[in-house]
Amino acid sequence: MDTNPKIRMTKQRQVILEELCKVTSHPTADEMYQMIRKRLPKVSLGTVYRNLEILSELGMVLKLDVGGTQKRFDGNVENHYHVRCTECGRVGDLHMPTDKEIEQKAQALTDFQIKRHSVEFIGVCPECREAGNRRVS
Ligand code: ZN
Ligand code: MN
Repeated sequence: MDTNPKIRMTKQRQVILEELCKVTSHPTADEMYQMIRKRLPKVSLGTVYRNLEILSELGMVLKLDVGGTQKRFDGNVENHYHVRCTECGRVGDLHMPTDKEIEQKAQALTDFQIKRHSVEFIGVCPECREAGNRRVS
């Protein structure tokens, strides 16, 4: 049994995890705060932020290594790929098998012990494409 006090699942932490697992929008801490407030009106942004960091350290949520200005979080901790919109920063899941071979290839080239890899595809989301088309015409 793990007695690490960090593992203690507080009510707040439980709600944050539940809400994050409900969405596929990869919310920022601010967006998470807006969602959590509906269930826990007294919660503070700092508490949400701190708990997201703890959950990510525990490997229970994923903190996305994406190039946006704000960190985004993901309730799906399975290795999967993402696509980011260059216009609005929205991040979507890409449903394709992850490339295990690339980790072996990388391992052959480095003394680092490769644990995982992340891939971020860059593009323009349908809404921003639509908006761009409207501007042009
Ligand atoms: Zn967009
Ligand atoms: Mn994802």
